[in-house]
Amino acid sequence: MAVRTVVYHPNAVLRDIAVPVSDCDSDLKTLVSDMFETMDSYRGVGLAAPQVGVGLRVLVVSYKKHRFALINPEIVSASGEAWDEEGCLSLPGVTLNVKRYARIHVRGLSVVGRPVVMREKGFIARIIQHEMDHLNGVLIIDNGLPLETADVSQ
Ligand SMILES: [Zn+2]
Repeated sequence: MAVRTVVYHPNAVLRDIAVPVSDCDSDLKTLVSDMFETMDSYRGVGLAAPQVGVGLRVLVVSYKKHRFALINPEIVSASGEAWDEEGCLSLPGVTLNVKRYARIHVRGLSVVGRPVVMREKGFIARIIQHEMDHLNGVLIIDNGLPLETADVSQ
């Protein structure tokens, strides 16, 4: 395991569309292990592979009792909306209000290639959506609003 360097906006890799993982092999296991270690080192609650310069559809989350990796995640369905504050390890010092779905049903693969289905709400659903945006080259500066102007009514 190794802590990798988090890349910052405006690094171009953050704007690329990440490509699906085709093989859940030892390289993927190493990437995911390094991503967990990097996320922990930077005190993040989530990290997407493009943030360590790797253009693959891989994310990791660590928030309260949730700690998991998702490979090739897709939103199956979503409902509701909620505003809350978000930061991003690739945007040091930036905090914005971002609108997200309140509830999501996500599917993907585990690091060993097993199908995973998740139904989440609240902040964990927010983290997943934030990291999935990274896989599509989207950052919170694209859709977030300054804290003092955002409509944060739920
Ligand atoms: Zn981010």
